[in-house]
Amino acid sequence: MLAVRSCATLSEAAGILSGDRQAVLIGGGTLVMRDVNEGKLTEGTLLRVTDPAFRRIDAGGGRIELGGGVTMGQILATRELAFLHAPARAIGGPAVRNMASVGGNLFASAPYGDFAVALLALDAQVVVQSGFGSGRATPLEEFLSARERMGTALVATIQIPRPASPGDFHFRKISRVKPKGISVLSIAAHLPLAGGRVSQTRVAYGAMAPTPIRARGVERALEGKALDAAAIAAAKQAALEGCRPATDAIASEWYRREVLPVHLGRLLAGEPR
Ligand SMILES: Cc1cc2nc3c(=O)[nH]c(=O)nc-3n(C[C@H](O)[C@H](O)[C@H](O)COP(=O)(O)OP(=O)(O)OC[C@H]3O[C@@H](n4cnc5c(N)ncnc54)[C@H](O)[C@@H]3O)c2cc1C
Repeated sequence: MLAVRSCATLSEAAGILSGDRQAVLIGGGTLVMRDVNEGKLTEGTLLRVTDPAFRRIDAGGGRIELGGGVTMGQILATRELAFLHAPARAIGGPAVRNMASVGGNLFASAPYGDFAVALLALDAQVVVQSGFGSGRATPLEEFLSARERMGTALVATIQIPRPASPGDFHFRKISRVKPKGISVLSIAAHLPLAGGRVSQTRVAYGAMAPTPIRARGVERALEGKALDAAAIAAAKQAALEGCRPATDAIASEWYRREVLPVHLGRLLAGEPR
């Protein structure tokens, strides 16, 4: 049987999660409740967190902090987070966005996880209240690579360095069905320029591996270069390094490998999709 328990504080929820292997945290519930409705989750305790800190947005400074339970709808309603509106808008339709949380998106299996792709390109850090790396700010990339083996974890906060120039951040979700289709793939790129050359760029993909990944070959190809036709050609050449896309109901592995360099090239050139 399934029980539902409300926790007034994050520490109460963290304590239950670390002591009860059958306890499952609910963020927005868009995936958890689907498992319940489909009879895949029938035993244990569903934990709701009512702690206001879980839904808090601190968007005022150079370092943005989002509570793990912040929804895509909350992000879209926050003007200071305009640079995150494209990835937030990419998650499902309006009803899903009003429930889907940032913390939950970090656990969504490919081809979901579009918002996590944006966070990866923005060098976000994750603060976990219980489980892997408790209490310290962990780079999202490290967190994602430990995701499958970390067991129970409670993502309390996500920290994002604000891009110096919001126009340097780009996000594209490639889907076959508009506007709400699931990702064939997604690409996020932070391309700061110093003296006309790309400096400390970060590029990330969704649906090109079991978790969102950095496109390290692309980053190397672009670093220190002017964003011209030669640099874009080199980036496209390196685009598939480290990719392990799946074949699923949305697209085949072959198709994902074929179209990724095309869409990456268009994003880097500032062309429409
Ligand atoms: C119709 C539909 C369309 C969708 N479209 C997209 C899409 O386009 N792109 C996309 O990326 N995703 C999509 N999703 C997937 C999902 O809605 C999102 O990934 C969402 O962000 C998941 O967040 P949630 O809070 O609802 O997760 P939940 O369902 O609450 O939780 C999912 C998992 O994460 C864990 N979890 C949740 N929050 C935390 C936390 N703070 N700390 C630790 N663990 C946590 C839960 O225990 C559970 O294991 C879609 C889902 C549906 C049903």
